[in-house]
Amino acid sequence: MLTDQIFIKEVKDSIEKNLKNLEFTLQIKVKEYAERLRKSNNDFLAERAKDIEDVFGRVMNVVLNYKPFNIEDIPDGSVIVARNMKTSDTMILSKRKIAGLALTEGGISSHVAILAKSYGIPAVMGLDNITSHIHQDDEVIVDGVLGQVIINPDNATRSEYQIRITAEARYDEKLKKFKNLKATTEDGTEFNLYANIGTPEEAELALEEGADGIGLFRTEFLFMNALQKQKDEGSNTPFGSSVSEEIQFEAYKHVLEVMGNRPVTIRTLDAGGDKLVRMDEIPNLTEKNPLMGLRAIRLSMFYPKVFRTQLRALYRASVYGNLRIMIPLITDVSQVETALGIARGVRESLRSEGIPINENVPIGVMIETAAAAICSDCLAPHSAFFSLGTNDLTQYTIGIDRENPAVAPLYNEFHLAVLRMIELTIRNAKKADIPISVCGEMAGRKESAIILAGMGIRNLSMTAKQIPIIKETLSQFTIQELENISSRSLY
Ligand code: PEP
Ligand code: MG
Repeated sequence: MLTDQIFIKEVKDSIEKNLKNLEFTLQIKVKEYAERLRKSNNDFLAERAKDIEDVFGRVMNVVLNYKPFNIEDIPDGSVIVARNMKTSDTMILSKRKIAGLALTEGGISSHVAILAKSYGIPAVMGLDNITSHIHQDDEVIVDGVLGQVIINPDNATRSEYQIRITAEARYDEKLKKFKNLKATTEDGTEFNLYANIGTPEEAELALEEGADGIGLFRTEFLFMNALQKQKDEGSNTPFGSSVSEEIQFEAYKHVLEVMGNRPVTIRTLDAGGDKLVRMDEIPNLTEKNPLMGLRAIRLSMFYPKVFRTQLRALYRASVYGNLRIMIPLITDVSQVETALGIARGVRESLRSEGIPINENVPIGVMIETAAAAICSDCLAPHSAFFSLGTNDLTQYTIGIDRENPAVAPLYNEFHLAVLRMIELTIRNAKKADIPISVCGEMAGRKESAIILAGMGIRNLSMTAKQIPIIKETLSQFTIQELENISSRSLY
């Protein structure tokens, strides 16, 4: 295309005739050609319109000396300052040593915040107009504890933060001894502390931090990663190719093998809402109200081929460790029955193919909507276990977008309505004698973990780095003290 003599001549002639500059002329000509292809009534030629725009878009960048921003070029030690981060861009957090994040959008339970926490990256969000205050090469301190960002600090502030960094390192040192201890209260009540992971590689990190297993593997990041990989390899197709059964099988097998006989809870795809994945099977969704729309199990049911492929990969991996399968955003008993039916079908076909599987993988559900919590007594007989997703439970109970900083002050996990839902779900799980855990962010925060423990929760799943911190916290209370604290919050 770049050497097409007819095209080049047309551009030259137009410049001579109209006396407009190259940038203007090129833009008009590219548009003209692309339009002609789009109207050709031939699908193959219509697709080429995009190629023309892509190739000459790059020519235009050269002509204008414009270097498009590429997140891959960010050097180690940088602070990322942006309005928001696309989910596909958040993969950089696992690849590079990012020093901090300062973002306008997102809240404490947003997915970028959860990922940043997994990688121990300080992040402050909800910073109005931050990109106009901070410029390239400014020196920036991101204080994730106080939730503040300091631009070009003076010497006194810089030394104050040096002292805090040293103190933090000393605290980390102190926590080390908890890594290999079982989590218990001062008087010996035991807890299982599991890790939440988003990529298979984090399994090793979970073990290092002393996790008793994986309480939540968010598989949607696998799908987002695949999209990123495809971008890295230079493909510009608008849809990511689907994440094959083989890629998924390898990822699940890796986590199960690393964790040995410790339980590994893998959640089926929780895409949609704020976590968009694009695949051949799943077109780019445009929904008016995506958080109420085709998300999680609803998406899996709408595109059952994607769900079946994932279940096949999970069952094939099931012989490599102690697998549990978890279904997100359940609101109805019928959804569980359908999911269990599909799982049964997948087991049958694997059996007929002679592929070894574990026939008895427990299948549990997430309790993360008011519907699920209130009807948890009806869900219990169909569920091998419950896991409370308090991030969404808070969002959907109070009706607060967990990603929107404008309403962040109303996002309150300690809202009485949320605590009552948790309490009711615990009661119903106990009545039905099924295990219950919490895998939302509440499990990994000191102030909420102690309340959950006092309410009777013995399984907490959190970002790996919080595990020693929560072990230390629980060790400072007796179980009676924790129960007293909880009952005061539940008045
Ligand atoms: C939750 O909603 O609490 C949860 C653990 O799921 P996610 O944060 O991935 O939506
Ligand atoms: Mg959730």
